[in-house]
Amino acid sequence: MTTKKLESEQLIERWVVRRIVSGESTATLANTAFVYGNDLMRLVLDRTDGSLQITREPVEEVVVFRKPEERDEENVCRCCGMEHSTFKSALECCAYLD
Ligand SMILES: [Zn+2]
Repeated sequence: MTTKKLESEQLIERWVVRRIVSGESTATLANTAFVYGNDLMRLVLDRTDGSLQITREPVEEVVVFRKPEERDEENVCRCCGMEHSTFKSALECCAYLD
């Protein structure tokens, strides 16, 4: 269970870094929610130093409903959700990271 939590936090941190690198501010990323298995996590902006903290929402079960129009996200990395120009690069996105 500990490993699972760490893994989800790593995914979120990776996602945050990519968004920051692509020019987004921590303020716009705040309140983003993440679903990993049955864990629901949220990015909370620390007002004192402007950093993003990952908080875990106390829920028993998470159910994600996909809209039909969202099913064709072929060029989106299944791992971090980043969009890519090709399906291949989307597959390779997080494949080689630890
Ligand atoms: Zn990725």
